[in-house]
Amino acid sequence: MSRSPRWLESPKPQHPHRAQLAYVLLVVGPSLLSVGLLAGFGALTGTTFSLGLFFVALMSLRQVNVVVVTLLYHRSMSHRTLKLHPVLEYVFRIWGWLTLAIGTRIWSLTHRVHHAHADTDKDVHSPVTEGHSLWTVGRQSIDAVRKVGADQSLFERLGSDLPSDRLERIIEWDHRRHFGMTGIRFPLLLSLITLAWLSLGYAPGIALGAAVCSLPGINLSVFTSTVFLVNGVAHVWGYRNYEGLDHSTNLLPIDFFGLGEALHNNHHAAPGCANNAHREGEIDPGFLLAKLLASVGLVTELKEGPARHARRALE
Ligand SMILES: [Zn+2]
Ligand SMILES: [Zn+2]
Repeated sequence: MSRSPRWLESPKPQHPHRAQLAYVLLVVGPSLLSVGLLAGFGALTGTTFSLGLFFVALMSLRQVNVVVVTLLYHRSMSHRTLKLHPVLEYVFRIWGWLTLAIGTRIWSLTHRVHHAHADTDKDVHSPVTEGHSLWTVGRQSIDAVRKVGADQSLFERLGSDLPSDRLERIIEWDHRRHFGMTGIRFPLLLSLITLAWLSLGYAPGIALGAAVCSLPGINLSVFTSTVFLVNGVAHVWGYRNYEGLDHSTNLLPIDFFGLGEALHNNHHAAPGCANNAHREGEIDPGFLLAKLLASVGLVTELKEGPARHARRALE
C-alpha cells in the first residue's frame, strides 16, 4: 500500500453515523457502567448516593486521563510534537501509570510500530487485517504491548529516546505483574478512591464498595477510548481527508471528549504535527490545550505545523 497521503477536496464518508454512535457509546459507556454498579450497591446496602454527581465526577476524571494520554503518551513521547515541563511530565507519567496501567516507554514504542506499519501485516493492531472486530483489536492491542515489551531490538531501533529511568522500570515491573493488578498500581488506586469516598462521610465498608464500583469508569474509560475507539473504530468508520495512506479515519470534526485523538486520519497523514485539525471547521481541543499550556511555559517546542489545510505542507 502506498504510504503517501493524498488530500481529498471533499471529505470521503465511511459510515459516519456508525462512527458517531460508537463514539458516544465508548465515551460514556464505562462511566454509565459504574453508575449502574453504584446504584445496585446502594440498593443492596440501603445507602443513598448522588448518582448524577458521580457520573459528572467520573466523566471529569476521564477527561483528565485523556489529557494525559494525548499530551504525554501520544503527542510528547510518541511523536515529539511538544515537550512538557519536566515536573508536569513526571506527574503525568505517575497519573498515566495509575489509570492506564502501562509505562510511557512501552505505550509510545507500541504506537510507533503501529505508525510504521499501519494496516499492513506487520501492524501490531489493526481492525482491517483480521476482520472488523473490536474484540480482535482489544486482543491485538494487549498482545502488542506484550510483544513490543519483549523485543529489546525494538527499544534500540525505535525507542532509544524514550524514558528508561527508575520510575519507568518500576512501572514496567508492575505492568508485568498482571497489568499492575496485584503489584503497586491497583492497591494504590483503590486506596485513593476509597479515601475520596471516606472524605465524603461514608462508612469504611461503604467507601470501599463504592470505590470498587468506581473502577470500571476510571480504568475502562481510558481503555475503550484508546484501544476500541482510536485503534479500532478510527480505522474503519468516520470520514477521510486523505487517501493513499492506510485505513485510518476521522470520527467527527470536533472531538471534545477525545481531545482531538479522533481526528485520526489527519494524524496518520501528519504525525509530526501537533495540530490534528486540518480542514476548515475541524477543531482539535488537545492542540488548543497545548497552546494554552505553552503560553504559561508548561509546554515548549510545540510543532504547530499547518493549522488548516495540511495538504500544502504534505505536498
Ligand atoms: Zn492508527
Ligand atoms: Zn500517533
